Amino acid sequence: MSAGTVTPMMAQYLEIKSGYPDALLFYRMGDFYEMFFDDAVAASEALDIALTKRGKHDGEDIPMCGVPVHAAEGYLLTLIRKGFRVAVGEQMETPAEAKKRGNKSIVKRDVVRLVTPGTLTEESLLEARRHNYLAAFAEVRDGHALAWVDISTGAFHVMTLPLVRLGPELARLSPSELLIPEGKESELRELETEFSLSLTTLARASFDSTGAEQRVCALFGVQSLDAFGSFNRAEVSAMGALIEYLDMTQKGNLPLLRKPVKETEARTVQIDAATRRNLELTHALSGGRAGSLLSVMDRTVTASGARLLERRISSPSRVLETIHARLNAVDYAVNNSRTAQDIRSRLRAVPDLERALSRLALDRGGPRDLAAIRNGLTEAAYLNETLTQIELPDLLKTAVENLSGHDDLVTLLEDALIAEPPLLVRDGGFIAQGYREELDEVRKLRDEGRSVVAAMQAQFVTDTGISALKIKHNNVLGYFIETTATHAEKMLSPPLSEVFIHRQTTANQVRFTTVELSELETKILNAGNHAVELEKQLYASLRTAILNQAGEIGATSAALAELDLACALADLAQAENWVKPSIDNSRAFNIQGGRHPVVERALAQQSGAQFVANDCDLSADTSAAIWLLTGPNMAGKSTYLRQNAIIALIAQMGSYVPARSAHIGIVSQLFSRVGASDDLARGRSTFMVEMVETAAILNQADDRALVILDEIGRGTATYDGLSIAWATLEHLHDVNRARALFATHYHEMTALAGKLDGVDNATVTVKEWEGDVIFLHEVKKGAADRSYGVQVAQLAGLPAAVIARARVVLEALEKGEREGGATQKTLIDDLPLFATIPTPAPAPVKSSALDDMMNTVLPDELTPREALDLIYKLKEAA
Ligand code: ADP
Repeated sequence: MSAGTVTPMMAQYLEIKSGYPDALLFYRMGDFYEMFFDDAVAASEALDIALTKRGKHDGEDIPMCGVPVHAAEGYLLTLIRKGFRVAVGEQMETPAEAKKRGNKSIVKRDVVRLVTPGTLTEESLLEARRHNYLAAFAEVRDGHALAWVDISTGAFHVMTLPLVRLGPELARLSPSELLIPEGKESELRELETEFSLSLTTLARASFDSTGAEQRVCALFGVQSLDAFGSFNRAEVSAMGALIEYLDMTQKGNLPLLRKPVKETEARTVQIDAATRRNLELTHALSGGRAGSLLSVMDRTVTASGARLLERRISSPSRVLETIHARLNAVDYAVNNSRTAQDIRSRLRAVPDLERALSRLALDRGGPRDLAAIRNGLTEAAYLNETLTQIELPDLLKTAVENLSGHDDLVTLLEDALIAEPPLLVRDGGFIAQGYREELDEVRKLRDEGRSVVAAMQAQFVTDTGISALKIKHNNVLGYFIETTATHAEKMLSPPLSEVFIHRQTTANQVRFTTVELSELETKILNAGNHAVELEKQLYASLRTAILNQAGEIGATSAALAELDLACALADLAQAENWVKPSIDNSRAFNIQGGRHPVVERALAQQSGAQFVANDCDLSADTSAAIWLLTGPNMAGKSTYLRQNAIIALIAQMGSYVPARSAHIGIVSQLFSRVGASDDLARGRSTFMVEMVETAAILNQADDRALVILDEIGRGTATYDGLSIAWATLEHLHDVNRARALFATHYHEMTALAGKLDGVDNATVTVKEWEGDVIFLHEVKKGAADRSYGVQVAQLAGLPAAVIARARVVLEALEKGEREGGATQKTLIDDLPLFATIPTPAPAPVKSSALDDMMNTVLPDELTPREALDLIYKLKEAA
């Protein structure tokens, strides 16, 4: 090819690619998806596959790489995980069709789907037990809103949201992709790393609220949105942008979405992003699900039950009725464990109805999805039948009612499908015998054809007298007769040559056909094709029958999830000895014998050690609402702080809690400032992060909030830190009036308990034994006597010389403090320099003892008498 010329294929490629500059283009060529130019370079690196070249463009080699179609899903997954978007360009016609159109050189191709992190539906690309949300953040003149969908389950939600609340909501939902209007990129760019999501910019027009309303209405086939509630312009804009994007990525194949549900912040506990991270609700700080509260609490047996649990943990309620209804459901399952166990064993057989349904809706499903619907609905019907007679609490009663109503559909699917159908429609073989007479007949023809082939072979053997003659089949020749070269001679000459037509000679074999055989072949082929065609039609009608009831099937699936969750939480409560919390609208907070479920599990697994249960009473009306917690490092302060926050959350999600008893007045906001983490990506130091988070708490917490603060002020100089901590505590007490746990290293602060009514001291106890500390992990009222920092450092394995030096400095400092700060500085200045402390060297014992002695001597401190004694001692030692 000369420079500058473009082949028709390249021209087509470039044209399609120009529509998807931000995505990798998978360009279908036969059994491969091929990528060219920069796409090929990027993909070959990301996928670790060979980069080759194909032809030239503008005189340069064209880089190319490819992946086989049958293995494409795995490669897609890798690319999506690595942050790519992929446009899948398919062949829209066969070469034969292209020829018919008069275009000999090239088949029509088009992008059938744009694969992005937020629009996945394939089982292999999704985590079964997690939601996969696509969200859109809209901005109109008078406000902001966030809308989100999970196209793999059909969930669709929207809420009004000021910009400052975007972070906390993203932390709650953890969407995998967020759509934003053009022009907001620089302002919102940092969300990408903070919430590990992929940010996609859409033109402002996609967010236009008038067009948006039309799109939403069209999707649901309604005249006006009023049918679903009242939405403001920002909300409509966010919903519209989502739908536009789905239309764009799914190429008009819109997913099945449930009616949009409007959420308000007022119904769930407000938890900011930092608090969520710190408490490790759904993700551990290390990143994964393991080690999170979710992983410890999850005993669900269905994927949709697991997703429901994740939603509840992420969004605990603050509506008393809702919490009570959920608690009553769990309570029922605890008290009727036989019934609950029966339900669970049935639920184990329930497949993921929501995701099967969504694949069917997008026409990405297969016979196995039909079977999933059949199996799921069958179990649902069984559960409905067995549970209808039983007196159940409201939540479960409604759930059970929603399990029925699919008898006709189930019968249809049972009649139509074989027990375990194949994954793909393509090859047929999933419609049951006896369902369609026509299909049975064609299949008979096809199968009989095969036995006729066998009979024909026997006949040919007799006719030719060649016993080694065989009828075989391959994809190139179809059916053919094969003999060895030695016998072929006979068949190539009359009279046999009049019947046997030569087709091919290979090294050892010669192949023939006959008129009779090719006629039979056509018949078999036609029958086979006809059977597959019929199955395809039947598949389509079964799919339609299911989609006609999509709403009801969705409701059944939600009901199954509700049952699953109630039984799973009951199972957990019984196995782990959790209790039903009592929750009301008071400002009580009284937890007796509380435990941290994740630490407790970790201890049991690692060392078999018992977790020490602890009480906490922050009841604002009867006790001090703020506890100031002191105690050495490693004593269990953070664990204690976190466990009380977590218990409140678990209670408000409607579950039993890890405690001996718990009485909690609804918590509306939860704040934590726990541990320090540098936010280097944003150029903030530890101290800055700490102060930003503390400011947020002091500005927002109200008298329904629960606040846990761990060692604030630690990131700066001692006096600065102490003053900030001191003032923060006073503000929480006087202004916010929140219930709070405040852990600190500053023992000076314990004096506050005497000054402020609502503050009590508490400490995590330790025992000192032969210079070591033993952690008892028991929380008691009162202040810690000291902090044992040096002992803890010793436990951690700091060099002996450093520990010795630290003890000396500590002693000097404490002494200085007792005698008034004035002497402190001189004392420290007078101490022997660190560098002069000899490391324990292989020196003679004598001189080491001498050194030891000298190191502890403080010349300025010696009385004349002591100095004299010392000289005697030195003489002795020398
Ligand atoms: P601190 O915040 O006081 O430094 P942590 O809360 O981080 O201490 O606890 C340190 C370790 O002590 C934890 O990792 C855990 O193994 C153990 N621990 C904490 N609380 C308890 C408890 N109540 N019972 C048993 N072990 C505990």
